[in-house]
Amino acid sequence: MSILFTNVTAVLMDEAGTILNNGYVQVDGATITYVGPDRPQGTFDRVVDASGKVMMPGLINAHTHLPMTLMRGYGGGCDLQTWLNDYIFPAEGKLDARAVSAGTRLGLAEMIASGVTCVADMYMFTGTIAQEILNAGISANLSCGGVYFGDPASFDPHTCGDCIAQQELTDQWHGAGDGQILIDASIHGEYTSSAPLWAWMAQFAHDHHQRMHAHVSETTSEHQACLQRHGLTPIQVLDRYGVWDNGGIAAHCVYTTPEDWAVMAQKDVTCVHNPYSNLKLGSGVAPIPDLLAAGVNVALGTDGMSSHNSADLFADLKLAALLHSGVRCTPGAVSPRQALEMATVAGARALGRPTGQITAGKVADLILVDFTAPNLTPCHDVVENLVFAAHGSNVVMNMARGNIIYENGTFHTLDLEQVQAEVKEYALPLLFG
Ligand SMILES: [Zn+2]
Repeated sequence: MSILFTNVTAVLMDEAGTILNNGYVQVDGATITYVGPDRPQGTFDRVVDASGKVMMPGLINAHTHLPMTLMRGYGGGCDLQTWLNDYIFPAEGKLDARAVSAGTRLGLAEMIASGVTCVADMYMFTGTIAQEILNAGISANLSCGGVYFGDPASFDPHTCGDCIAQQELTDQWHGAGDGQILIDASIHGEYTSSAPLWAWMAQFAHDHHQRMHAHVSETTSEHQACLQRHGLTPIQVLDRYGVWDNGGIAAHCVYTTPEDWAVMAQKDVTCVHNPYSNLKLGSGVAPIPDLLAAGVNVALGTDGMSSHNSADLFADLKLAALLHSGVRCTPGAVSPRQALEMATVAGARALGRPTGQITAGKVADLILVDFTAPNLTPCHDVVENLVFAAHGSNVVMNMARGNIIYENGTFHTLDLEQVQAEVKEYALPLLFG
């Protein structure tokens, strides 16, 4: 399938910061093959007139938990530990694969309609999520969120559930859909596991060329408890066991230190900034300007819809560019351009994927945003409007891996009515009675 976009205004997210005006973007199969001012030769299966819209790379949600969409707004008003122990863990204990499937599809519908083309997701029933991702058409790095609550002396990878899951997921899904699905190694967090699992996961990641995904220093209590247990921060104690040797994702990083940032910069560990979730749970504000200054790659995530109440990454984009200016009393402490990089190029680097930019050779993950909408008119500066004024609902087209999967309110890979019926009639009664 070849598609030509005409009359394109595009934020390319290349290093020069180019805004393409009245140009052309050609897509063949899953790849962008031309970007420029001249109409390319040849015939095309489809020509899309992009007048009045702005094209940008599809958004990359680099830390989320799709099935938690079922728990949107459940247990609001609590801190992280109370919320997890009193609300989330009891509900999750009732989940089955069918409910996870329904919750994943609902989350995917919301993300696709608001411009996400790529996610890093961590959750149980990971194989079920992989199948839904494959059907929906976006790309995903998936991980099971390894936990081990047993006695460290008794650790046996042959009986540890998440070691078995990691092996099975890798065998069944790593590279599936021509790379649409990648499996990451993972540690849910320092506080939900111990050294034998860390060492095993690190070795597994090394042997299978996988990246790592972990929650790190989300709350002050988690961070302090780790210091008391090990005399080291979560980043540093995990580093002792080789967890970061293949790079990967450290979600949150609210209480990370300059020493942590040095490890992260050296080992290509991305901080995934989840400003909305961190604010809602009262966890704190990650020192993003300092992480950027230390050379750490910073990407953006919503976290689960249970602690965000929405999957609209435009909300996080806006917060990432606003929050630090306010906290530091410095306009542009994180610039709009830097925020946009977090949601695109930096996310691509975090996931190890050739996407996040509109240049020939990259994967065709592209979205169109309706700049005739009242909230995007007038437009003195495209980046200012995208970061501070746009909503996910301004997205009118989502192309993932060269396929248009959403256009003008219509999903081409999901049956929204069926998804909503399944959530209402099966998943919600199962979890909440
Ligand atoms: Zn999370």
